Amino acid sequence: MGNNNGNYSKKRVYLLDTTLRDGEQTPGIVLTKDQKVLIAKKLDELGIDIIEGGTAIASKGEQEALQSMVKEKLNSEIASFCRILTKDIEAAITAEVDSICLTFPSSDLHITKKLNKTREQVKTMVYDCIEFAKSHGLIVHLLAEDGSRADLDFLLEVFKGAEALKVNSLTVCDTVGILSPEKTQDIYNRLSKELQVPLGIHCHNDLGLALANTLSAIRANARLAHGTMNGLGERTGNTAMEEIAMALKLFYNIDTLKLEKIYEASKLIEGLTKFEIPINKPLIGKNVFTHESGIHVDGILKDSKMYEPFSPELLGRKRQIMLGKLSGIKTVKLKLEEFGFTLTPDQEKVLTERVKELGDKGKTITDADFLALVYDVLGQRKERKIVLKDFVAVSGSSVHPTASVRLIVNNEEKVASALGNGPVDATLNAIRNLVGNEIDLAEYHVDAITGGTDAMVKVTVVLKKGDKKITSSATSTDIVYASVEAVLRGIDVLIDY
Ligand SMILES: [Zn+2]
Repeated sequence: MGNNNGNYSKKRVYLLDTTLRDGEQTPGIVLTKDQKVLIAKKLDELGIDIIEGGTAIASKGEQEALQSMVKEKLNSEIASFCRILTKDIEAAITAEVDSICLTFPSSDLHITKKLNKTREQVKTMVYDCIEFAKSHGLIVHLLAEDGSRADLDFLLEVFKGAEALKVNSLTVCDTVGILSPEKTQDIYNRLSKELQVPLGIHCHNDLGLALANTLSAIRANARLAHGTMNGLGERTGNTAMEEIAMALKLFYNIDTLKLEKIYEASKLIEGLTKFEIPINKPLIGKNVFTHESGIHVDGILKDSKMYEPFSPELLGRKRQIMLGKLSGIKTVKLKLEEFGFTLTPDQEKVLTERVKELGDKGKTITDADFLALVYDVLGQRKERKIVLKDFVAVSGSSVHPTASVRLIVNNEEKVASALGNGPVDATLNAIRNLVGNEIDLAEYHVDAITGGTDAMVKVTVVLKKGDKKITSSATSTDIVYASVEAVLRGIDVLIDY
């Protein structure tokens, strides 16, 4: 239950998260009821004020999901999306939500072509719906769909009438993401002069300006920022909620979300939506706090502010050092420290040269590659202890995927076979039977490097042994072979580590 009953202070900035409605409209994303409730709980933990949890009228499952969120008695207010139709509001009432995001088409394009109505008809529908919802005790957030392309005089007229009917907030939606920061400011300057109700801003990122426009609206007195975690949403997505919270803190010292919990929430949503976060996505992408170049690592070691705008800990993250051809001796030393090795200065020099050589071949240097080089430089071993002799994997529409693997482990030949969910799983199970169970496969990724069915694939794995974790990878046109090699290379160094 929202704890302010729809009375929003104009001294604060509130956040409305629509990951579970606009975000779920991202092509390819489908969430179950339980997953939606799990995400809602996480958003509540983060400190989101209003969660637009779905569309009650859409399906029985959606209605139940909203109802379950309400039953969690979260601090966040739970809202359902509604069109300007009584049946939509009735469904929201059945779901027992706190509020509705009542959305009306506001541009002439949407009014005439989508609804086949006139401006006057739409206005009447809006007012009827507000009165109906209010008479049932709902908090009402009114959203002007395609508001950024609507006639501002008409928008103001509708909003003024809605204000008289005691709506709780009024939002302009930049549905197709065509606002500029200047135009946003003009719109909100005018609206905030003539309206008393808190104003909201809902942006899409088609021109990469969603965050800039959202901040622009807030500068011009908007008090309710809409967004989605990880910037999910149709096309190029909505304003990323994590970016709003971080920018408000950095630029205006406005506290909204618990920033140190953002990354954890973001990864949970990535896992449940199966929508991978781009590696260069601001704040939450894999590369945000990863450094490879020797010059940058050297700078970071002197003062982390040198090449980082803010510390990773602020977002609950850690700095990562990647090795490659640009790595210097300091980077290598840092990596050695991370793995708990001490080398002589001469050995460090040799190791750095070897790292650069490998990097020059165009290879991303994984932990497994690095450890193999370390063992070599230390003179502990030249050869791999675990080598693949051969393997057979069988799959098809009427056979249970089966694999058998022959390995040379410490000069001794070993064979095992296993079943699995597909040929990769069966092969990895057979390997597990041979090398023991103390090594776990914590992560598994496949990337197609080239296109087509003859594509080169790169398999990257994270292997775990106790509290030790390493990355390893291999490339091949055969996905099973690449998986086997990536895992074996990792196990080979992990058994000695
Ligand atoms: Zn939207």
